[in-house]
Amino acid sequence: MISIRIQKLTKRFGLVTALDDLDLAIEPGELFFLLGPSGCGKTTLLRSLAGFYIPEEGTIFFGADDVTRLAPHKRNTGMMFQSYALWPHMTVAENVAFGLEERKVARDEIKRRVGEALEAVRMGSYAERKPNQLSGGQQQRVALARALVVRPRCLLLDEPLSNLDAKLRLEMRAEIRRVCKEFALTTVYVTHDQKEALSVSDRMAILDGGRIRQVGTARAVYRRPACKLVANFIGETDFIEGNVVSADRGGVVVETAFGRFYGVLGDVTRVPPAGASVTLSVRPECWTLSREIPERNGVKGRIGACVYLGETAQYDFRAGEQTLKIIELNPRFLDQSGRGELFASAAPEDVVVLTE
Ligand code: ATP
Repeated sequence: MISIRIQKLTKRFGLVTALDDLDLAIEPGELFFLLGPSGCGKTTLLRSLAGFYIPEEGTIFFGADDVTRLAPHKRNTGMMFQSYALWPHMTVAENVAFGLEERKVARDEIKRRVGEALEAVRMGSYAERKPNQLSGGQQQRVALARALVVRPRCLLLDEPLSNLDAKLRLEMRAEIRRVCKEFALTTVYVTHDQKEALSVSDRMAILDGGRIRQVGTARAVYRRPACKLVANFIGETDFIEGNVVSADRGGVVVETAFGRFYGVLGDVTRVPPAGASVTLSVRPECWTLSREIPERNGVKGRIGACVYLGETAQYDFRAGEQTLKIIELNPRFLDQSGRGELFASAAPEDVVVLTE
């Protein structure tokens, strides 16, 4: 198990700065996700770790080793990409053995390690099949075995599941996590799929413009986004603008068009002064609907459009100039669509105050 430390990394393509003075530390054995809007630098960072790009500035450490300028084949990383890129003319076993043959590993050793890697991804009985005799998910398992068989120092995954259908993605998500943990592999995983990142990661980084905007566990990033970009990018949220009445690390009081709101800071290192304009972020499922005036953090409005989804319902809640998205678990207010006034309220710990 190795840690990965990235220090002041800058990678430019002509006039584009794809990575901008980026710092990041990934713990040994961690399953770490890179997320962010298109063009934010995820793939560039992953490719820099693999050695396909040499940065203009900065350093990459695998454990104690500075690998910044090391050729890709000397880094001993295991890689798995969007397209499985299995050789169609080779059997599953031959595909997995390929990397070991290149490294001139002894024949018996190859056989043993290929067997182990295929067992690890539960493909032991498919060794003699050709890739076109496998499903997409099975091909992806073989690609994972091929990445594991070289006993990599770390695993680099770039959208590994994006070619699979929804059901297989779910299955393979759990499978990738199981294998990474079983092999105690430090893994960096790039995806566009937030659900994948929320459900599988130990921690994640949200990038934007070649910089890291937030690093944390899924729960921390979802519950306490540090800025508007993160709040908007991970999950859905309602934004309400306001001005600070008072603030400290423990809590913030904000005057809004709906009255006073009590909330918590998204980034406790930046306590805003009184009067500062801020944005409140409330997740749609954090609102509670009622007919009575709530004690605090209440918004008066009416339910407009609604979508019934069985266990939940989604409402457009029309409140003055704004329409809030509200999700109700075990829906009770469906019949209120187009009817009288209601109140939506949120607990202070669910109201995140963003200072950007
Ligand atoms: P996506 O989610 O769309 O895959 P990404 O976050 O992986 O995006 P990168 O591919 O890392 O983003 O690109 C970061 C920036 O660098 C973008 O502005 C992109 O256009 C630019 N870029 C990436 N690769 C090259 C290249 N080989 N030549 C020139 N510009 C590049």
